[in-house]
Amino acid sequence: MEKLDLYYNRENGNVYHEGIASEIPDRISQPLLQRRVETLIGRKGLKASYNTGKSYMKPLLNTLHQKNKKESLDLMLKHLSRRGFGGLKCTELKKDYMKIRVKNCFNALPYSQSNKKVCFEMAGILAACGEVLMGEGMDCMETACTSQGNPYCDFHVFSHGLKTKEKKDEIINSIHPPEEGLVKHNAFHDPLRGETIFKDGSSLILPQGYMAHYQRELESLLGEKPTKKMEYILTKKSSIVTANTIKNKKAAGYLHSPVNFLLREMVKQTQSRGFGIPIVQEFYPGKPYLRLIVKNSFNAHGYFKARKPVCYRMAALCAGFGTALFNRDMDCMETKCTAKGDRFCEFIVYVNPHRRIQSGRSQKRSIQEMATLASL
Ligand SMILES: [Zn+2]
Ligand SMILES: [Zn+2]
Repeated sequence: MEKLDLYYNRENGNVYHEGIASEIPDRISQPLLQRRVETLIGRKGLKASYNTGKSYMKPLLNTLHQKNKKESLDLMLKHLSRRGFGGLKCTELKKDYMKIRVKNCFNALPYSQSNKKVCFEMAGILAACGEVLMGEGMDCMETACTSQGNPYCDFHVFSHGLKTKEKKDEIINSIHPPEEGLVKHNAFHDPLRGETIFKDGSSLILPQGYMAHYQRELESLLGEKPTKKMEYILTKKSSIVTANTIKNKKAAGYLHSPVNFLLREMVKQTQSRGFGIPIVQEFYPGKPYLRLIVKNSFNAHGYFKARKPVCYRMAALCAGFGTALFNRDMDCMETKCTAKGDRFCEFIVYVNPHRRIQSGRSQKRSIQEMATLASL
């Protein structure tokens, strides 16, 4: 295991990995969304994964570009491995194409015994690598996948014969020189598996704004409402699992005062993962209600003049923690959002009287299902 240094800025809530502002979800959350999108609208839904991987990672990979192709590629593949995408190796490098083999690819995590290749986000990321390296328009196709029982995923990156359109991307703004007064956090990287452990769990270190970008891709494919519903349901489930894991550790602080301990942990986890700075505004012991604001919410990055609040995943995180906190099914509504010009995002966690009651058994089953997936 190698140690990775992450730097947290208390003022604005940014977390830096190798000088780049980043956000750190658990390793399975992106592929879980992809699988759900595929179930809802079929294979065309995978375009959102491919496009996000390609367009959002390219400016970042550009910063690693060197004169020598081989050196360049080496740097990029190692960098992606430290971010937790998998163990990447080049198996063939030619003038206008290359082959990449990925061990333990993050993208295939929630799939097993699939009859198709599934790693579209990874293919997008590798197409971006190809474009940086070859300086021309490239695409990528997966030719073998662990989801089909293969020991690794194989990708073929090739020229599509069109010039690339260079456009200034959002992410370039988040590349900063190291600042003073940052707080250091450690993550651990396993170079053989290409996996990164942060806060006791396998995580992905994505460039800041990545998940919001993916959300916009989904919104353009599915529409706002279905995107919101899907992201909310999946993220809430995994947030309940995270909160229950904290509960089950039964730390001394938790045994002393469970509610205060969980609230503090929720604030700490959100901050250290680069999701924003939550500040609790209203909380009354014994009442299932919580109002909090979040500064610099990861979910609102890249949105301008939105008509409605857009932090669906952040709301779901609050709902999940609220559910664990109050020991009953809670929901969360965002009432202010930086995406529509507010100074911060505001969330109300409440008991939803209109929610269809989920039977105890099916709720237990879905939580178990998530726990199994999260521990893979
Ligand atoms: Zn694959
Ligand atoms: Zn917001």
